[in-house]
Amino acid sequence: LPADYTPSPSLLKGKTILVTGAGDGIGKAAALCFAEHGATVILLGRTESKLEAVYDAIEAAGHPKPALVEIDLAKVTEEQCMHLAQGLGEEFGHLDGLLHNASMLGERRPIESATFAAWQEVMQVNVNAQFVLTRYLLPLLQAAPSASVVCTSSGVGRTGRAFWGAYAVSKFATEGFMQVLSSELENTSNVRVNCINPGATNTVMRNTAYPAERPTDNPSPAEIMATYLYLMGEDSIGVTGVSFDAQ
Ligand code: NDP
Repeated sequence: LPADYTPSPSLLKGKTILVTGAGDGIGKAAALCFAEHGATVILLGRTESKLEAVYDAIEAAGHPKPALVEIDLAKVTEEQCMHLAQGLGEEFGHLDGLLHNASMLGERRPIESATFAAWQEVMQVNVNAQFVLTRYLLPLLQAAPSASVVCTSSGVGRTGRAFWGAYAVSKFATEGFMQVLSSELENTSNVRVNCINPGATNTVMRNTAYPAERPTDNPSPAEIMATYLYLMGEDSIGVTGVSFDAQ
């Protein structure tokens, strides 16, 4: 990413972009930011009231009318994904962007005392849901003139650290998912696939993981959007298989 990257105000005009976990934190900021840059944003999440608040904010600002999809990724089924793909296909014809942002932190404890149920839930939300959504949305991405899939990684998805358990392992899996998919699509389609590690950002998740930190010492989600815009817009055409740091 060029150090002085300045996205055009109309960078995402005419594009349709789905954001998971769009009701709070980084996903909310990304949805608002993509809409501000001209995109029609599909807000996917599990808490209707939060999604509605983002929807209303986008409408009130006069940005393109978003769409709202309520799905709990801990329970997502193939049927829901097929249904979603069919609905989006009918309404938009194709999908220009997919931001896999939703994740859960899960238990912060040693593997020796971790519970299998909590481990499975983290893997379900952070890894399995990412796969099954991508699996069924891929035809819509391939139907776009150029499309971008962005997965959300973490520092503990590159170097393991004690007590980060399933979350860290899920982020290694996310890096792997990005690399495998990117490699498969590199020469045969217009879909690029990359990762962003947001870095320490002031959200509920960060503040849960680091209760002793002063939240405002970290940047707000809105302050780390340059890399997200770069990867979603056409300035990053040809860039694939790369893991970026947003900070
Ligand atoms: P938040 O916890 O603030 O937000 C997570 C979002 O994901 C929420 O909108 C939440 O919905 C949604 N979500 C969680 N579980 C589900 C589910 N089962 N189904 C649907 N949606 C779900 O986290 P952040 O904004 O901090 O994190 C965003 C991404 O960035 C994550 O992938 C995280 O791992 C990553 N990250 C964050 C860092 C940070 O410092 N903040 C650092 C490194 C990585 P709801 O609000 O309804 O619970």
